[in-house]
Amino acid sequence: MKVEEKLALDAFKTDNESHIAINQEICRTKCKVKYCIFACPGHLYSYNEESNEIVVEFAGCLECGTCKIACLEGAITWVYPKGDFGVQYRFG
Ligand code: SF4
Ligand code: SF4
Repeated sequence: MKVEEKLALDAFKTDNESHIAINQEICRTKCKVKYCIFACPGHLYSYNEESNEIVVEFAGCLECGTCKIACLEGAITWVYPKGDFGVQYRFG
């Protein structure tokens, strides 16, 4: 079974409130490469041209913490989801 197939079996209990905050001003003024878009294994980050903002689909977060490390400008504030919200892994 491929990693992608295993991940597709994970379950998510979604909070209404995001556990990931992005400082959009830093993204706009200091970051050209936008590593978050390439680094997230869940492909949850994207750039919205209309609003000129980085968007993260936090509901699908795998809680790996990669984006926090990949953002060299420190624009991401990341905490674990509250209570029993978040990902439930099926294959470790
Ligand atoms: S890597 Fe950090 S600063 Fe750059 S776009 Fe992503 S969140 Fe913003
Ligand atoms: S913690 Fe991992 S899965 Fe969640 S948004 Fe960051 S890089 Fe993506």
